[in-house]
Amino acid sequence: MQAGRPIPVNPARMLAELDELRTIGAVGKGVSRLAFSGADIAARIWLAGRMRAAGLEAVVDPWGNLFGLPPGEGPCLLIGSHSDTQPLGGWLDGIYGVACGLEIARAAREAGGPRIAVVSFQDEEGRFGGLTGSAVWAGAMEPEEADRLSDAEGITLAEARQRAQEIADIGEVSPAQFAAYLEPHIEQGPVLDRAGETLGVVEAIAGVRSLTLTFSGEANHAGTTPMHLRRDAVRGLYNFAAALDTAFAPLVTDRTVWTLGRIAVDPNAPSIVPGTASVSVQIRDPETARLDRLMAEAMGVAEHTALALELDLSVSQGFSADPVPMDPRMTEALAEAAGGIAPGRWRRMSSGALHDATHVSRVLPTAMLFVPSIGGISHNPDEDTKRADLEIGLLALTEAIPHLP
Ligand SMILES: [Zn+2]
Repeated sequence: MQAGRPIPVNPARMLAELDELRTIGAVGKGVSRLAFSGADIAARIWLAGRMRAAGLEAVVDPWGNLFGLPPGEGPCLLIGSHSDTQPLGGWLDGIYGVACGLEIARAAREAGGPRIAVVSFQDEEGRFGGLTGSAVWAGAMEPEEADRLSDAEGITLAEARQRAQEIADIGEVSPAQFAAYLEPHIEQGPVLDRAGETLGVVEAIAGVRSLTLTFSGEANHAGTTPMHLRRDAVRGLYNFAAALDTAFAPLVTDRTVWTLGRIAVDPNAPSIVPGTASVSVQIRDPETARLDRLMAEAMGVAEHTALALELDLSVSQGFSADPVPMDPRMTEALAEAAGGIAPGRWRRMSSGALHDATHVSRVLPTAMLFVPSIGGISHNPDEDTKRADLEIGLLALTEAIPHLP
């Protein structure tokens, strides 16, 4: 094939495969392929067969990550995502990226090059931990630690992953065999759909900061305690919540999200002035500096609120993860392709959800491309994307590939 030309993919063939995969583990309109379940193994065996039929070598690593490797030497581009699902998920989450990778790798073989590999990482959806397949593969998690993870029934990953050998020949696949990683995925949010856009070029996977604040006052009789003598913890909570939005307004962008998701009040009774009130604060943003600034601001607002109402304040830190920037050269190649194929109907954005790309970016230049989710619905049997948008995503990838590192 002539260098620089897009790989001549067959979008109808990819859509037909997505339709067929949808039947493996089908539950109504949705799909249930929990990692290492019968349906997950069946889907991976099916994928391994399609890889071989495309002239790729199907190799599964001991963690259940399934690779389709092209013949020949030297690092090549790796495209994919995951084929496991939530206990009851939709038909596109993860598998869209794998189907794109399979079609592109196959079409590249038919066209005589370039060499492209495909992957379906295991346990992205977290039967055991979430992103465990890519975490171990990319060195973000120690194998011993992963093996100790267990599912809701107490089955360990060490036990479950024995089934990997049913999928294909077990082998070790090293990140050094690849030049870069490209993960196409459905957006799983409403941004593209609401804007009537077709493609999202991901610039970063958002980071997370979280903490729990507890305001403590004095529980007392709700009828006999005059307002000016109360130390009402819930008052601290709602004053904090209102002041937080005001304080954040000048600091956030349209990519920032924050959530007061869990509230607990004690004694939590209609006739008692609340003695303690705690609230979780979770902030997500693609930039570390802004995350830290917002956390400091939240702390300042909480301290100010507590002081004004004569409440005590205690703070416990929660889950934290830094933002993961995508590779700028790959992002530019995707942006160029998106602008060419969907002019005026694409955007640069960040991913609010974690993906396998989070871990793979530690070891390979990595980028992600989003297609819309109708109504922003995902992790739900109603999850869907227009077939035309699924095709445009595939075509945009092929336009970008000649310009990737
Ligand atoms: Zn996914």
